[in-house]
Amino acid sequence: MATVDRLQPTCPCGTGATYDACCGPLLAHTRQATSPEQLMRSRYTAHVRGDVDHLFRTWHPRTRPDDIALDPATRWTGLRIVAATGDTVEFVATSEGGRMHEVSRFEQRAGRWVYVDGVVD
Ligand SMILES: [Zn+2]
Repeated sequence: MATVDRLQPTCPCGTGATYDACCGPLLAHTRQATSPEQLMRSRYTAHVRGDVDHLFRTWHPRTRPDDIALDPATRWTGLRIVAATGDTVEFVATSEGGRMHEVSRFEQRAGRWVYVDGVVD
């Protein structure tokens, strides 16, 4: 049976890894995402934590809004990656009373992955 260190919360993005071993360093700017999926996961975690700064920094300057406003009433409950191929990531994010399906597009800029845009249905 696996032991769970209860002092180390698992990452909200659902990898099962601890926050410090998963999205934590990305949100803290101490590590860069090495794949679109990793960046997408960190952006989901930023939504969970209300980290607007991380969303802004990882959004392509061409497509990002001047002002990113998160709805504080939305409580995200889970993330499921459906497919991650090339520069796109398809995922389902669930919240209390809602569900969002998106195919996101990413681009590499100066060696760093950034979010470009997404198709939501
Ligand atoms: Zn994570």
